[in-house]
Amino acid sequence: MLSPEAFIEPLPPGPVTPREGKRSLSVVIPMLNEEKGLDALVARLKPVLDGCGLVWEVIFIDDGSRDATPDILRRLNTEDRRLKGVSFSRNFGKELAVAAGLDHATGDAVVLMDADLQHPPEIITAFIAKWFEGYDIVYGQRDDRQADSLARRAFSKVFYGAFKAMSGTTLPDGAGDFRLLDRKAVDALRQMRERVRFNKGLYAWIGFKSTGVEFHVPPRHDGGVSRFNLRRLWRFALDGLVSFTTMPLRVWSYVGVIVSALAFVYIVGFLLKMLLYGGGASGFPTLIISILFLGGVQLISLGVIGEYLGRMYEEVKGRPLYIVADRIGVGEKETRQEARLS
Ligand code: UDP
Ligand code: MG
Repeated sequence: MLSPEAFIEPLPPGPVTPREGKRSLSVVIPMLNEEKGLDALVARLKPVLDGCGLVWEVIFIDDGSRDATPDILRRLNTEDRRLKGVSFSRNFGKELAVAAGLDHATGDAVVLMDADLQHPPEIITAFIAKWFEGYDIVYGQRDDRQADSLARRAFSKVFYGAFKAMSGTTLPDGAGDFRLLDRKAVDALRQMRERVRFNKGLYAWIGFKSTGVEFHVPPRHDGGVSRFNLRRLWRFALDGLVSFTTMPLRVWSYVGVIVSALAFVYIVGFLLKMLLYGGGASGFPTLIISILFLGGVQLISLGVIGEYLGRMYEEVKGRPLYIVADRIGVGEKETRQEARLS
């Protein structure tokens, strides 16, 4: 038997009544060498944005592309002034590209998404609905990781496990950069000017009322490969851990205590053996093994200190997060008050 709901007509699509403080939307898209898929992306994104009943702008952040991406941005801006661009002077990495996007966005909410259509634009409608319901952060939650390579999936699993255990911060399962952030959350993120950035952790750190919307990740639509190889992922994972936990630094005191205790037991045992059975100092292998073991432990702990120290040095230098080479359709501004969406 059909349930009564089956007979209820869905509401016809109509103009959305604008709500207080929820009238405009900025979409921020970081891009590195995305010339192939850019037009297809715009063709799919624009109808979605036009249908959402909000004033909108798209801010493409060209993260130092070496292909025709900047030229295409220029053309797109002449075709539609709402398509804007910021070009970096070189590749600064996706995390900083996102930071630049948040700095330049003027909307009451900001949607972050990838350029390769792995984040389906249609989901934005669901994000906005949740935003209207009162959520400040709406994140896309991938239903599976089929689009990723096996090595990458294994890497993510280990990393998220380690991150949770060490930092005590739980990152929502399958949630990445694809998300909507209310102006409150954007302003909170903009206050954090750290150069070594791990956005996923920052989204969780700022708090706010959050919810997820499930989506399916298709393969990159241009048939290209991920811009992140395992080496970059490794750096990214280290940045994430170092900026959210000091546990790797502190653990060495405990390792030291354990190793000293073991050494003490060994000394007592050795003395007893010598007193009871006599015999001198033998055991060259034991000597070598302990020297190598302790040498290794000390080098590892020094290396960990180095990881933190190096990043502290990055921060202390106080350099700007990114350098803009070119702005297309966006003004140079420090706060959004100076250029609000009309
Ligand atoms: N990206 C970027 N700077 C980088 C690397 C990537 O702006 O240094 C952009 C890229 O163009 C894409 C998004 O970040 O829009 C996600 O990159 P990709 O699809 O290669 O990563 P994955 O889907 O594997 O996470
Ligand atoms: Mg991708």
